Amino acid sequence: MESSTTLLQTAKDIFIGSFTFDLSRYLIAASLIAALVWGLRRTHLASRKIQKREATPADFLREFSASLRTVLVFTTLAVPMVWAFRHGYLHDYRGAMSAAAYFGYLAGILLAHDTWFYWTHRAMHLPRLFKAFHRFHHCTITPTPWTAYSFAIPEAVVSFLFMPVWLAVVPTPHPVIFTFLAVMILRNAMGHAGLELHPRGWASHPLLKWISTTTHHDMHHGTSYNHNFGFYFTWWDKLMGTEHPDYVKTFDRVTDPGRTLPVQRLSTSASPHTTA
Ligand SMILES: [Zn+2]
Ligand SMILES: [Zn+2]
Repeated sequence: MESSTTLLQTAKDIFIGSFTFDLSRYLIAASLIAALVWGLRRTHLASRKIQKREATPADFLREFSASLRTVLVFTTLAVPMVWAFRHGYLHDYRGAMSAAAYFGYLAGILLAHDTWFYWTHRAMHLPRLFKAFHRFHHCTITPTPWTAYSFAIPEAVVSFLFMPVWLAVVPTPHPVIFTFLAVMILRNAMGHAGLELHPRGWASHPLLKWISTTTHHDMHHGTSYNHNFGFYFTWWDKLMGTEHPDYVKTFDRVTDPGRTLPVQRLSTSASPHTTA
């Protein structure tokens, strides 16, 4: 009987599938963005590399292995979440759904997740929490798409918790959850791409400026830990006064077609707090 399923039985049922799903999500999104960046660096858009510094092989190893650990944390926490579904503590939405409803749900979950991310991120920067939760992610000075899941275990837990909290409040259709998970990891890999992927003029466009860019999150890693806490959107940073004062200027400089190419060879000697 499904209602009498134990945690152990739930783990047996879903562990391998859940691990494969989360690992694939990470590998596919990071590989796609890494391949895109690799290709663009062989064109005139190579000048959009944000930092002079190059990520090192040691950075890649640390971030990749931590990302595998994060997948394991997500898989482990998915067990009690699925158990809660089976026992009626969490709910999904089944039934007919119009296109308007689909996009309405999707907008709702993205806005809610952006808010969750901004405020938990700011909380993890409090001196009492930073070391245990978030310092590991900031070992990365020069992000690459492989940084996407590079979290200490406590931060991975905070990151996962959004999903059960949301589902406890809003029964959500499966296709919306699936799209949300895809958008989340893709935007995460894009935010850590290291090379600006958004068109010139984006950061100052009256409508587009509300959507974050690669430069926005890159500056959080390479320029100032105390600015640019947002994820998909910039409005929390704009509203709370935490957007870096040089964000638009930096974005415009990075996307300037006349910009001189940053140094391309591997180097560990550059200052970790410079953007070109
Ligand atoms: Zn980051
Ligand atoms: Zn941070």
